[in-house]
Amino acid sequence: MDRIQAAVSKHFSGGRFVHAYIITGSDADGRGQAAQYLAQAALCEGEPVPCGACRHCRKVLRGVHPDITYVQREKSEDREIKIDAARALRAQASVRPNEAERSVFIIREADTLNTASQNALLKVFEEPADFVVFILLAENTQRLLETVRSRCQEISLPPADKELPQAALAIVRPQSNLERMAAITELEKLSRSELGEAVSALPAAALREYKAGRMTDAVLFGLREKCALAEKYLAVNISASYISGLIMTAFPE
Ligand SMILES: [Zn+2]
Repeated sequence: MDRIQAAVSKHFSGGRFVHAYIITGSDADGRGQAAQYLAQAALCEGEPVPCGACRHCRKVLRGVHPDITYVQREKSEDREIKIDAARALRAQASVRPNEAERSVFIIREADTLNTASQNALLKVFEEPADFVVFILLAENTQRLLETVRSRCQEISLPPADKELPQAALAIVRPQSNLERMAAITELEKLSRSELGEAVSALPAAALREYKAGRMTDAVLFGLREKCALAEKYLAVNISASYISGLIMTAFPE
């Protein structure tokens, strides 16, 4: 389970769903992933939800589930989600789902719903049909009416992964031993603070390689250990060449 799934799954423990969620935080991609995961869980008929294997889960993952409706600005140059779209959503929310036990409405950039649109939706947020789950995605909830926000459960996502420093990425990527040695030696040219950043980012960079199947767990764990040691050495002014030598020992000869 990744960090986004972990943040979302707290909000449907025991398979209980509320009728409206607001997903905030992270970046647009993260919010989109969170919405898909939540929708999958709401529609899943397997166990534990989302099982990832039932017909509903598979359709959600392929982006073809008929009981998920997306609502968004009509054209990218539109500044707002207009009242017509809100009214259409309101009408559709009373129609029973096609295949699943629930129907899910995902409102992308819900912070672009204008005031009239939000007011038009208030009633369905207040008294939705039993089978409806609304998922609002918003970068900034300040633009949503308090009356709307108070009817939604907020899921706040952790911030997106920081961009990892190039020096760390260069060390962990798949390459010959000689190339890797050269990349590690480059650490010695960095300023002390850059060196610190690179060393502290190395475990995260390595984890990414490991998850992609390009690094063994022995190397990952070895590198974590060496980096923890290197951070201590950095704090007491031990030389960059000693630290790069230490990092080198995490990789097989
Ligand atoms: Zn499922």
